[in-house]
Amino acid sequence: MPGTLCEHCTAACCRYIALPIEKPETRADFDDIRWYLLHEHVSVFVEDGDWYIAFNTPCRHLQPDNRCGIYEARPRVCRAYSTDNCDYHSGDYGWEEHFAAPEHLDEYLLRNPPQQRASTRRKSSRGRPTPTAPRRAVAGHRVAHADRRGIPLPVLLQ
Ligand code: SF4
Ligand code: SF4
Repeated sequence: MPGTLCEHCTAACCRYIALPIEKPETRADFDDIRWYLLHEHVSVFVEDGDWYIAFNTPCRHLQPDNRCGIYEARPRVCRAYSTDNCDYHSGDYGWEEHFAAPEHLDEYLLRNPPQQRASTRRKSSRGRPTPTAPRRAVAGHRVAHADRRGIPLPVLLQ
C-alpha cells in the first residue's frame, strides 16, 4: 500500500474517546449504565473484563481532509498511538460485550442477573456515578458500524 496507512483512513481513531468505568455489580450500578446509554452517541463496552464508556464524537481539530489540525501540539495519547493495531484494521474488535442502546443492556442482564445488595460505587456531589480516573488512554479503540449481533451502532458525528 503506497503512503502511510493513515492516508487511506478516515481518521477512525479521532472520532471518539473511551474511558474506563467501574465494573457494575448491582441493579443500581446497571441503572447508572442505562442512564449513560440513554444519551445519544454514548456506548459502553467490556474488553478483557474491563468496562469502558465511549463518547462517539469527533475531535474538534479533525480537519475535513481527515488530518489533524494541531499535529505539532497534539496530545500525548495521539502521539503514542500507532497504526500497529489501530482502528483502521478490520476483524475482531476484542469486545466481550458492547452496548449501544439500553436494550442491549437489558439483553445482557437477562443473561447475567445483577446482585441485589446496595452499590458501593462512589457518587459525585450531584449523586450521579463518577467514572474512575482514566487508567490508560484508549483513544485508539476500534470503531465498528455494527455490534457483534449486527445491531447498528450510533451514527458518528461528521
Ligand atoms: S492510526 Fe489507524 S485509525 Fe488512526 S488515522 Fe491512522 S490508520 Fe486511521
Ligand atoms: S488532536 Fe489531532 S490526532 Fe489527536 S484526536 Fe484530535 S485530530 Fe486526532
